[in-house]
This record gives sequence, structure tokens and C-alpha cells, in this order.
Amino acid sequence: MAECLFCNIIAGDIPSTKVYEDETVYAFRDINPQTPVHILVIPKTHIESAAAVTEENKSLVADCFAAIAKIARAEGLDSGFRVVTNIGDDGGQTVHHLHFHILGGVKLSPKIV
Ligand code: AMP
Ligand code: ZN
Repeated sequence: MAECLFCNIIAGDIPSTKVYEDETVYAFRDINPQTPVHILVIPKTHIESAAAVTEENKSLVADCFAAIAKIARAEGLDSGFRVVTNIGDDGGQTVHHLHFHILGGVKLSPKIV
């Protein structure tokens, strides 16, 4: 997946501001933050989007959410935050490597759902 931006970030070929890393997950600050805290959490294995999650790779999603909980604590998001994943063109996905946006550091509104 040499042409995938986030695979290149994981490989260290494109710089990023790392906030968390473990065996299966990498997290870094969004280059165009929409909120005071805006972090992207990604599996190190390339998965196109949440629509490409399968029985075989679903544990990586759990790994991402375990990382999200740790990162939220480390960032002091004790009063809440939002997790968003965009899927496909209609869902507004621009980078086709599964990622979870952590958005916080401010009272968020409006609700989408
Ligand atoms: P999405 O639109 O849900 O696919 O989100 C992609 C996100 O990646 C956007 O919020 C971008 O600002 C962010 N992004 C794009 N390139 C980089 C980069 N080189 N480093 C950090 N974040 C990036
Ligand atoms: Zn990728």
C-alpha cells in the first residue's frame, strides 16, 4: 500500500506528530484540526474503511478503541469528546485507510445523530 498516505505515515516516510503507538495502532495529530484536540487513530494494517471490517480484522477495531480510551485520558478529555469515522465518498472519506477522528477540547455541537 505504498500509495496510501496513512501507510506512509506509519512507515515514517511522511512525518506526523505521534501521540500514541502500540503493536497494532498508531495515532497522530490531524494536520488540519477542527477542534483544539483532533487526533487520528489508525490500525497499522491497511483497512480501506469501516465498511471493510471483517471477522479476520475486527480485533484491530477493538485495538483502536482501547487506544482511543487511553489517548482521551492522556489528553485530559474527561468531560467528553466525539469519535467519528467517515466512510466512502458519500461519507466524506478523503483518506482511504480506516481512521477514527478524536474530536475534543471544546463543547461540541451540533449533534449529527
Ligand atoms: P477523512 O476526511 O475522514 O478521510 O479524514 C482525513 C483526515 O486526514 C483529515 O482530517 C485531514 O486533515 C487529515 N490529514 C490529511 N493529511 C494528513 C497528514 N499528512 N497528517 C495528518 N493528518 C492529515
Ligand atoms: Zn493504508
